[in-house]
Amino acid sequence: MMPSELTRDTMELSSESLHAFMISLKQRNPGEPEFIQAVQEVAESLWPFLEEHPEYMEAQIMRRLTEPDRMVMFRVSWQDDSGKIQVNRGYRIQFNGAIGPYKGGLRFHPSVNLGILKFLAFEQILKNSLTGLPMGGGKGGSDFDPKGKSDTEVMKFCQSFMTELARHIGTNVDVPAGDIGVGSREIGYLFGQYRRMENEFTGTITGKGMEYGGSFIRSEATGYGCVYFAAEMLKTRDDSLAGKRCLVSGSGNVAQYTVEKLLELGAIALTVSDSSGTVLVPEGIDSEKLAFIMDLKNERRGKIKEFAEKYDLEYRPGEKPWNVPCDIAFPSATQNEIDGDDARNLVANGCIAVSEGANMPTTAAGVEVFQKAEILFGPGKAANAGGVAVSGMEMTQNSLRLSWTREELDLKLRDIMRNIHEKCVSYGREGEYVNYVKGANIAGFVKVADAMLAHGVV
Ligand code: NDP
Repeated sequence: MMPSELTRDTMELSSESLHAFMISLKQRNPGEPEFIQAVQEVAESLWPFLEEHPEYMEAQIMRRLTEPDRMVMFRVSWQDDSGKIQVNRGYRIQFNGAIGPYKGGLRFHPSVNLGILKFLAFEQILKNSLTGLPMGGGKGGSDFDPKGKSDTEVMKFCQSFMTELARHIGTNVDVPAGDIGVGSREIGYLFGQYRRMENEFTGTITGKGMEYGGSFIRSEATGYGCVYFAAEMLKTRDDSLAGKRCLVSGSGNVAQYTVEKLLELGAIALTVSDSSGTVLVPEGIDSEKLAFIMDLKNERRGKIKEFAEKYDLEYRPGEKPWNVPCDIAFPSATQNEIDGDDARNLVANGCIAVSEGANMPTTAAGVEVFQKAEILFGPGKAANAGGVAVSGMEMTQNSLRLSWTREELDLKLRDIMRNIHEKCVSYGREGEYVNYVKGANIAGFVKVADAMLAHGVV
């Protein structure tokens, strides 16, 4: 049936089906609020498009897209420094492999559970599709907390985790990377164990060190890409980042390189935070302060409060940055860190743009506030896709056994972010306003859905 042939009855049936679809999703995935939230956002913005394309409805693409290809859960036993046996749970969700090997990070954080990893893996399907590279969606991790553990304990955990994970991954199967709690140290230990077990030097993990097959600007890519995406959004309003007051949350990988790129482009990064509180830097974070933050968080693994103490800055314990007046917000810590009230604060205090470095950092209520106010709102699956894009390029370099330069990779990253922005605009334009959520969801969906149609009922 062509879109023009849709009758009113069909339309009504279809909009009823969104409701039925969500009810069935909730019944099949109890106790997984983040997964339901992520699917609901996608389904709501996709449904009118699906109604115009009955071929996707008839092939049950949404039902198939929300059911993972497979999920692996496993015990990770390891011995701590005092000789005590510890037990954690490991996971890998191989969500959708229609357009390439599963690809997505590993998160080590005590909050990790199946529902959180399913939301992340689901988002990853559409994000990876948006990059234009051949990567399916996956995610994994553990409830292990690297905080407060010695290097030896982290190594023992990583080795035990990889001993099981290794049988499920591979260069053409599934290629994990880092995420919260999994940085260069953890990737090194994971890769070391994988190589030992397989007796093969392959590109099965990305985010590797430069000495052993890593790629230039992989560490920088998510933060840089998120700032490039913000710059593209501003361009649509003949504006730029120069002189803009920016709020950054988090102080990990994404936050650090967001601040670095903002500094380079003449913007002013007013805040960083961590799970304990926020630090205010009224004159903006300069390169000396950023170097201190990087050393504090990456080497000494301390609290952001120490940054405030070192430079005599205001520290707000237990607070997020969102009530500080700003032009642009870069949430770069974790999911649901901007709720409806935070969003209202931001808008009331003059915020004109939000570029999400973290995955789903804004709640549904927060997104609604931003969209009603018609500010520029770049959802994570578009704005933070730079990280996985450079991971994809790390895979390519590993296969070709060559190394592109920093400059080549940065150019490619910029191009990819520009292309993602264009795709969002082309599917998301609503008169003068660009609905980037809708644009990213439809653009990401179409490629995966068409591949699934081509593969038949599998
Ligand atoms: P890191 O572990 O390097 O840093 C995470 C930062 O967020 C830390 O400052 C941490 O504080 C803070 N944080 C973590 N959990 C919470 C919480 N529950 N409440 C408040 N603060 C919290 O992770 P990344 O920078 O790699 O990841 C940040 C976000 O970006 C995540 O949503 C991730 O999924 C997303 N992302 C990351 C990509 C990457 O390439 N790394 C790619 C795309 C998205 P503390 O130090 O106190 O723990």
